[in-house]
Amino acid sequence: MDQPILVIALGGNAIKQAHEKGTTEEQFHNVDVTAKQIAKIAHEGYKLVITHGNGPQAGALLIQQEETNGLVPAQTLAVCGAMTQGQIGWMMQNRIAFRLHEESVEIPVCTVVTQVVVSEDDPDFQDPTKPVGPFYTKEEAIKNRDKKGYIVKEVKPGAEKGWRRVVPSPEPIKVVESESINSLVKNNVIVIASGGGGIPVRENSDGSYSGVEAVIDKDRAGFKLAQTVSADKFLILTDVEKAFINYNKPNQQGLDRITVKEAEKYEAEGHFLMGSMGPKMQAAIRFVKWSGKEAIITSLNKALDALKGKTGTHIIP
Ligand code: ADP
Ligand code: MG
Repeated sequence: MDQPILVIALGGNAIKQAHEKGTTEEQFHNVDVTAKQIAKIAHEGYKLVITHGNGPQAGALLIQQEETNGLVPAQTLAVCGAMTQGQIGWMMQNRIAFRLHEESVEIPVCTVVTQVVVSEDDPDFQDPTKPVGPFYTKEEAIKNRDKKGYIVKEVKPGAEKGWRRVVPSPEPIKVVESESINSLVKNNVIVIASGGGGIPVRENSDGSYSGVEAVIDKDRAGFKLAQTVSADKFLILTDVEKAFINYNKPNQQGLDRITVKEAEKYEAEGHFLMGSMGPKMQAAIRFVKWSGKEAIITSLNKALDALKGKTGTHIIP
């Protein structure tokens, strides 16, 4: 029997911890810790397709674009997305290949710089909500709005630097490199794809694609990738072992196994915060509904136990 295909979506902490500055050394160290877990999972006999966030890396790159403006031209958000895919992809393929070798698993690892088609009719283009890049004072924000055409919003009311650029976060529609990714998977290559949600592109009437100034949510894009490779399982790794109801309240309760129906009920009741657990649970629900198979939400160091059914939140049909 063919090995099952497992799509793993890695959260930001797999690459940079919140308290860290984000030096190359720090990021490599974190990626290496992640790579050890990935190698153990590969050892269990899954075909792996890996995706990851890029928030802190893209944020740092955007600051570099702004600070060196005038010296060298600032690059677009789409280019920054491509650059972080290359950066993080390299770190991962480098460390995963090594840790696999240690486990005596000789499987090639390859990053695919991935474009994801979005619709310019997506409602998020009307009222962008995703904050990116540096924090500004109100004056700086307004200057950037007038000079660069940024849409800016106050995201931390009352703070001295409480303003940020906001960009649309449209729905992912189609993975452009789906054929390449699938042929790699078929040939038993571990693929890293759709990093940072993928480079958002629009499809032009002549069949070409152009970059769009937007950021696709990485959990939603993770589901799109899972669909693209016909995944048998979807594993979302973050910094909590389980999703909770009544999170951070005295009566909080970890969820072990829930049906899609239960997940939707808890979601409607507002148990999963927007911008953190919300998109993960939504992606899990979409996957289970589409595949009739299981999605799991857990932390990086519990991944193996969760795959064996010992922990994590399992969303089932
Ligand atoms: P990632 O980088 O993995 O996407 P996020 O910070 O976006 O991480 O999402 C994980 C966070 O979601 C957890 O650290 C937790 O604080 C938060 N969260 C919000 N609602 C819940 C919930 N109901 N159960 C568990 N965690 C939750
Ligand atoms: Mg997140």
